[in-house]
Amino acid sequence: MPVDDSLVRYPDGTTRCWAAVLAVTVSDNRTFVLTDQTPFHPIDPRWPDQGADRGALAFGDNSAPVIDCLVGATDGEQLFIGDAVPVRRGEPGWGFVVVHVLPAGPSPREGDSVELAVDAEYRLRLSAGHTGCHVASLALNASLADRWRKPVELDGLGRANFDQLAIVSSKIIPDGAIDTYRIGKSLRKKGFDVDGLGLALPDITAAANIGLAGWVGSAATVEVQASGPRLTDLREWVCALPQGTVRIPCGGTHLHSLSEVAAIRIGLTFNEAAGELVMTTSVDRSRAAAARWLPAGQML
Ligand SMILES: [Zn+2]
Repeated sequence: MPVDDSLVRYPDGTTRCWAAVLAVTVSDNRTFVLTDQTPFHPIDPRWPDQGADRGALAFGDNSAPVIDCLVGATDGEQLFIGDAVPVRRGEPGWGFVVVHVLPAGPSPREGDSVELAVDAEYRLRLSAGHTGCHVASLALNASLADRWRKPVELDGLGRANFDQLAIVSSKIIPDGAIDTYRIGKSLRKKGFDVDGLGLALPDITAAANIGLAGWVGSAATVEVQASGPRLTDLREWVCALPQGTVRIPCGGTHLHSLSEVAAIRIGLTFNEAAGELVMTTSVDRSRAAAARWLPAGQML
């Protein structure tokens, strides 16, 4: 078992590469394959916003589907996967690795050279959803900015960072995302004014969508900047919006520019009794929509 963290190729958008197999283990009718490098984005149990890539692993004349992909850790002897990992990242003597899960059946052997290929279309849809999610969070922060009565942490555009202060969970889906926020006592104590929020939702939504149309029209560049090439290195989503360049810590995959999308829109629902606000982001990548939206984007 390797004790070095996996080299990851997905942060720059790579979807296929050759790799050397470092370890193969079989358990519960599934085969777990560790390689020296990988283009596969694994699901991270600490913040499982973006799910696993789909794809295939080719070895010799064989190919096996990668049915799941998770973050694991090894002490050189044993492999722990997902929630079962008993140590934190950076623990001396431990390697954090990308675990490719294959169904029972033919599998590569240690030392084999294999080709890892991610389903590029599915990845693109997740990247669009994840980029849309981050941009939408900034638009939501902006449209809720006048509800803060006390100074709080600000986002990269200088607005109160509602997203960071209230988020409970984020789920990236193909061409979209679902973010759930808790609006309870602690957020009120921090100075968030909930009065009339339900009635104001249509206006808040409309303001956010106008902001999003402007940003999509700006064709801002997007990239993932990494402090190093390994799984555990810190990575940031960096987007050069007209109002400023925003950086958000992020382990996922992204588009390279907002020009790749025709529109990003949000919808909001507020369950007052549960103190839960849900933002649904949808990303439109269709060309027809691009033609429709470009003039509006230019006007903004
Ligand atoms: Zn992210």
